[in-house]
Amino acid sequence: MIKLKLLGCNGGIGGTRRTTCYALDESVLIDAGTGLTSLSLEEMARIDHVVLTHAHFDHIASLPLLMDSVIGMRTGPINVWGPQRVIEIVANHVFNNQIWPDFTSIPSIAHPFAKLNAIPENQTFDIGGFKLSTLAANHGIPACGYRVEKAGAVLAFSGDTADCPDFWEAIHNDDELAGVIVECSYSRKMHEMALMSMHMDVDMVIKEFSQLRSNVAGIIVHRKPGLEDEIESELRAALPDRDVRFPISGQEYLFQTK
Ligand SMILES: [Zn+2]
Ligand SMILES: [Zn+2]
Repeated sequence: MIKLKLLGCNGGIGGTRRTTCYALDESVLIDAGTGLTSLSLEEMARIDHVVLTHAHFDHIASLPLLMDSVIGMRTGPINVWGPQRVIEIVANHVFNNQIWPDFTSIPSIAHPFAKLNAIPENQTFDIGGFKLSTLAANHGIPACGYRVEKAGAVLAFSGDTADCPDFWEAIHNDDELAGVIVECSYSRKMHEMALMSMHMDVDMVIKEFSQLRSNVAGIIVHRKPGLEDEIESELRAALPDRDVRFPISGQEYLFQTK
C-alpha cells in the first residue's frame, strides 16, 4: 500500500493553493514546493528523503527552509535525490553559500546536515522503502517523472512536462499501474502558453487518457491559479466515464496492490 498525500498540487500560490510537494508515507517527499509548509515541525523532522523532478522554483521553494528549520532535530542527514543534472543545478544555484548555506558541509563534510545524491539512470533504486525509477519528461530543462512502487502498489508521476511520447509509452505499457499523477497546467484557451512554457494542457491530457486503461486513476495536478474550474470542466466533459480526479492541496489517497 502507498499512502500519497498531495501536500501541494497547485500550479501556483494564492489563498489555499500550495505548489508541488507529495508525501509518500511519512518520510519521503517528491518535490519540495510550498506544500511542504503545511507539515508541522515534527513532521518535517521525520523527512529523510526529498526526491526532485526538476529545479524550478515551484518544486524546490521550501527545500532550503526545510533544512534550516529542522537543524538540530535530526541525527542523520536529509537526502536529496534527483537526476545528476538536476542535483548539479541545486548545488550550484541554491546551496552555494550565497543564496543559501551549503548544508552538505554543515556542520562538517564528514557528517553533513544534507546529502545531494544523483540517482542512477535506467535502473530501479530503493529510497526509504520505495522502489523508484525515473520516467521521461519534456520540460526544456533537466527534468524527469517517477515510477514508485511499494508492496505491489504502483504509481507514476509525470513531473512538469510538455507532450512526452516516451513517458506515455511507459504509462500505457505498465500493467501494474494503479494511478498516474499528471500535470495539466492549462485549459484549452491557453494552448499557446502551454506550448511556450512546456506544460500539458487539456487536449494533450485527453489524447493520452483516452488510451489509459480504465482501472488506472488519473489524478490531475499543477493547474495554474484561476484556471482550475475551467480545466476540470473541460476534462470531465471529454472523459465522462474515466476515473479522473481533481485534488486540492492536502488531499490524501491510499493505493493498494492491484
Ligand atoms: Zn517546471
Ligand atoms: Zn511546476
